[in-house]
Amino acid sequence: MKQTATSVVVDGVALITLDNPPVNALSASLRQGLQAELEQAFGDEEVGAILLLCAGRTFIAGADITEFGQPWQPPSLPDLCAMLDGAPKPVIAAIHGTALGGGFELALACHYRVAARSAKVGLPEVHLGLLPGAGGTQRVPRIVGAEAALDIITSGRQIKAAEALSLGLVDAVVDDAALAEEALAFARRVVADGGAKPRIRDRADAIEGDRNRPELFTAFAAANARRFKGFVAPAAIIGAVEAAVTLPFDEGLAKETALFERLVASPESAAQRHVFFAEREAARVPDIGPDISAIDIRSVGVIGAGTMGGGITMNFLNAGIPITLVETTQEALDRGIATIRRNYETTAAKGRMTAAQVEQRMGLISPSLDLAALADADLIIEAVYESMDVKTDIFARLDRIAKLGAILASNTSFLDLNRIAAATSRPEWVVGLHFFSPANVMRLLEVVRGAATSKPVVATAMRLAKRIGKVAVLSGVCDGFIANRLLAPRGAQAEAMMLEGTPIAEIDRVLVDYGFAMGHFQMMDLVGLDVIGRNATERTVMGDLVAAGRLGQKRGAGYYDYDEKRRSRPSDVTGSLIKEVAAARGVAHAPTSGDEALLARLLYPVVNEGAKILEEGIALRASDIDIAAVLGYNWPVYRGGPLFWADQVGLDRIVAEMRRLEAVHGETFRPAPLLVRLAEAGRRFGDGS
Ligand code: NAD
Repeated sequence: MKQTATSVVVDGVALITLDNPPVNALSASLRQGLQAELEQAFGDEEVGAILLLCAGRTFIAGADITEFGQPWQPPSLPDLCAMLDGAPKPVIAAIHGTALGGGFELALACHYRVAARSAKVGLPEVHLGLLPGAGGTQRVPRIVGAEAALDIITSGRQIKAAEALSLGLVDAVVDDAALAEEALAFARRVVADGGAKPRIRDRADAIEGDRNRPELFTAFAAANARRFKGFVAPAAIIGAVEAAVTLPFDEGLAKETALFERLVASPESAAQRHVFFAEREAARVPDIGPDISAIDIRSVGVIGAGTMGGGITMNFLNAGIPITLVETTQEALDRGIATIRRNYETTAAKGRMTAAQVEQRMGLISPSLDLAALADADLIIEAVYESMDVKTDIFARLDRIAKLGAILASNTSFLDLNRIAAATSRPEWVVGLHFFSPANVMRLLEVVRGAATSKPVVATAMRLAKRIGKVAVLSGVCDGFIANRLLAPRGAQAEAMMLEGTPIAEIDRVLVDYGFAMGHFQMMDLVGLDVIGRNATERTVMGDLVAAGRLGQKRGAGYYDYDEKRRSRPSDVTGSLIKEVAAARGVAHAPTSGDEALLARLLYPVVNEGAKILEEGIALRASDIDIAAVLGYNWPVYRGGPLFWADQVGLDRIVAEMRRLEAVHGETFRPAPLLVRLAEAGRRFGDGS
């Protein structure tokens, strides 16, 4: 086995190089290697100081997260940190790339930190529902004070070297190319100056002022209540930082360990770790290996500059890829481009983009009213009205216009991609690229594989997603693909319960309590009832609301009434309409009550639909369905997605409740065969196929 730690002694400094590609994760073998080299250096009389360096593209980029939830193999990271902290000789960490999580904690346990100018440091554990469990919550406040530490650790943000220097998190910043040399010079100076070993654990200057301000912790929690809602890690982080301020170092450390262990065992952290791995797994398509080469995409055409076409265009502009944007009228084209510009200018006004960057992106758009302008595009994405006739007409025309080897994609939400592909003479080049609204924000991209779509086209789409900052999930062809089909039953049940007399505010509240940003009816009001209700064929409450001019939030009235601050309250008008429509449809008054019953009615059918999507082979794996829900529909990440959550609830319990609902409401609730099979076998979605 290749050695993960090696050392040489240069001018009285032991240079320990850690080498665990690709990102020097803190695996057991790396920890053991480092421990052995440290012991060696501690005992070597020639050595006056120790320099820790990493090989490859980065310093230790984090813990080896596959080890979470399992017992540490010795030495544990906290043991190593204690060893560094108590080292008989000064230890200097030389940081390049990213020192994150356990990697940064290890650096903080050293006596000095020298960073390359392009390096970044940070404690991102919060994103996995955890806290830094190797002293991070105790050492960072001792450098930057409690408030800055709370910000750094609860946000998990990456801090650039220059800011880290001004905060005191690193002691020196040097040119990238000179890191090893400068860090060595730094180490020699430390020795020459008497070999001081300043330990962060011994410092109290930065937290002294915080000792008299216990209210700062409750104030921080209150100010961030919305952002932290449902997550368990932030409160634990606040508790740990408070311990850093109020307790001696070792007691604070013990508190940190206890809190860490509680978080590791929590369902919220398990869910967040599931989502983390699921996101990476989604990129893998079993029958498309690295041997299938992707097609080079240098220029892209987008047809339709509406809501979706505009957002889709922005993704490519952000990645520096030129776009030819085609519309039917100059007015629609101008409007679409103006919206894109406005979005960028809003970003620039917030200081997140320069005026020059706005112009540079806008300069990548070539507007046109002629499809023929797409003759040279490597990829063409259609985002026109959701109509089979309009789309097949466009694809037939594209077939005559597009160059050979161009990928022809549709952003259709529900239509049969195979029929769209059949309008061309080259269905193997046709693929679905289903973005979610707002397309420049939502991270999900469903790549829809038609019956004839070729492997290189699928491979290109999957890799392209990464290039434009999306997470691709592969979907087969069906009505609504994965995410829309999966969530449709939630809306259907919300509306069914509404007609049965369950207050819509109750239905929405239960969804918000579960962790969604808003409830079903609030969401409808936000999007606009006129936009959603366009295709209704029977009398609906929504249709009646639209007829009454209640189009949603934009008009101050939809399902709810809204005040000038856009706060919602129940509406009598809606209440009467619901009763009328229920009577007209012969729906008996039978409100559902109790959070658990409401949640089961709303979300178990989603789980059931997920089982069908999996069984039909529309999704490759259960975790892809979770990712589609989390990234496409903001399913709370700390629930892990519908199927992960279902595993937590227990599939047998879900099947039993579905059967009870089936007896009352009919076959909509019939449990899917896969769900029943798994439940009967005592298995879970997470066990894989
Ligand atoms: P939209 O009405 O906002 O935009 C459609 C645009 O296409 C209009 O500007 C129209 O002028 C233009 N257009 C129509 N025919 C054209 C043609 N022949 N050539 C060029 N341009 C033409 O609609 P949208 O919401 O952007 O939806 C577009 C597609 O994206 C639909 O298939 C829809 O189902 C899908 N989609 C929408 C959403 C969403 O949330 N809005 C989400 C995912 C997918």
